Amino acid sequence: MSILLESTSGERAYGFKQWALASAGVGFSLVLIFFRGLIPDIFGIFLANVVLLFSASMCLATVCKFYETPYPWYWCIASVTLGLIGLGLWQFGGLSLAVPTVTVCIALSVLLFYAAVLIMKKAIRPISFAVALFAFTLCVMAAMYCLRALTTVFAAQPTIGVINNSATQLGVLIVGALFIVSASIGFFVMVNERQRSIIEELSRRDVLTGVLVRRAFFDDARQVVAKHSSYAVLMMDIDHFKSINDRFGHAGGDRTLAHCARLLMNAVRIDDVLGRYGGEEFCALLPMCSLEHAEKIANTIVIQARGQNVALDTNQLAHYTLSIGVAIYEDKEELLATIARADAALYQAKNTGRDRVCLA
Ligand code: GH3
Ligand code: MG
Ligand code: MG
Repeated sequence: MSILLESTSGERAYGFKQWALASAGVGFSLVLIFFRGLIPDIFGIFLANVVLLFSASMCLATVCKFYETPYPWYWCIASVTLGLIGLGLWQFGGLSLAVPTVTVCIALSVLLFYAAVLIMKKAIRPISFAVALFAFTLCVMAAMYCLRALTTVFAAQPTIGVINNSATQLGVLIVGALFIVSASIGFFVMVNERQRSIIEELSRRDVLTGVLVRRAFFDDARQVVAKHSSYAVLMMDIDHFKSINDRFGHAGGDRTLAHCARLLMNAVRIDDVLGRYGGEEFCALLPMCSLEHAEKIANTIVIQARGQNVALDTNQLAHYTLSIGVAIYEDKEELLATIARADAALYQAKNTGRDRVCLA
């Protein structure tokens, strides 16, 4: 399932490959553990534990890939080495089976716990149910392995050996099976949530300019208006844009538009809402901003735009100017009414010579 989902997930890797290896490894080792006593110990114990160590490393790799964070090689190598030393001492050194049981369980709990902590650290707040499920499942597994290591060290009769003699081992088997199902559901839904939020964000942005499309502008603007008691609106329009298109072609016009949008993005504050209102018309909503401050920002934009050189693919330089209408929220006024007054001020700027700011 993980491999199938990877083939439909597009360019970005979410860790499907790693999860496929992790879950296949857990499944394979559970089968080996199930037949423990019926098959040679080299398979039922040694190989099963090596595969489990590999699966836990892949589980951590899944989380790292998903959050695009570097893989903690030192932790992985240290944990896996600890587990392998225990297994080697039992298989080739003749030590008790308790030794690898403890070392492998410690290694597995470190790797799984590390993955769970990484998820909680990197997850976007508020944490979704899928993220919580994935992290919780890894935590439960880590705690189970920790408990198994502790009971092996401290219990009078260590719960190791053939499956039928060991209730704890049976518990680990059942939890192991549940782990694959529960963690897989959590991980797949996590990827789905991430993909949905990427698509949503893409649909909110105008492809050419990168600013909000009109619908998204109003979505964000309405949220800002609901939260703040005052705001200013800037309606901005490129002057004689038609003649830029005529002179430099549509591609030159597009380049100029994108250039202008970048200038506007740099001019507004992080909490301001900037959108493409029409073809070459932009609207900015500035919360908690006085008329004087809004006018100052608008004047800065007009002066900056005037001094820009837009380098075109044709090796030509395009220039543009902006006209801006500014309106400040008036008591009990609807957002659309403030925008309409800013628009009227913009047309006043157009009618009085362009390349200027007019106040409503
Ligand atoms: P004014 O100073 O009065 O605003 O004149 P203007 O020429 O800028 O305004 P007008 O509304 O007459 O023309 C706007 C032009 O913008 C017409 C349209 O072809 C062009 N336009 C709209 N969207 C795009 C776009 O995405 N890319 C390009 N290249 N041109 C666009
Ligand atoms: Mg125009
Ligand atoms: Mg226009």
